[in-house]
Amino acid sequence: MTWLPFTNLGHQCRAKVKYPFIAFPMLFMFLSFEPLFSFGNWLGLKLGIVVNAPIKGQPNEGWFSIILILSFVLLMLVGYLFGFVVNAIILRVFFNWPSFKLKAVFIDSILPVHWYKPSKVCPKCNQPLGTERPGTKTFRQALWGGWTCPNCKCDVKTNGKPASA
Ligand SMILES: [Zn+2]
Repeated sequence: MTWLPFTNLGHQCRAKVKYPFIAFPMLFMFLSFEPLFSFGNWLGLKLGIVVNAPIKGQPNEGWFSIILILSFVLLMLVGYLFGFVVNAIILRVFFNWPSFKLKAVFIDSILPVHWYKPSKVCPKCNQPLGTERPGTKTFRQALWGGWTCPNCKCDVKTNGKPASA
């Protein structure tokens, strides 16, 4: 079980799928900045921080920074995940997706085959690279996507070029 929000599968998808799909997670991630500013002000008030003065040297300075950074990370994560929830609701309501299909995509990260970019061939030996759970073999693939050639084990980037070149 790998939740879709924690995979790099967006890199492997066609632009038609990729951009609508990441729009809501990005949107809510940015929207989470707004309550964060209000929260920062409120927290500063509670901890006796003078907001318009340099933070350094003020009492509770350490706590203020720690709590603010933690809430920053947490809120962004919540916003990002909420975007995926919105995506799932849209697919359910407007595209009539049954719940097993939603579970396959969002919980198990098994995407419809036609969501993936057209299959590329290995730049070194011309072996078709396929679309089955790409981007899981190397650290570079985990970050940026790509394939490992089943024939010559060449690490191939999403643009079809070898990673080492
Ligand atoms: Zn190859």
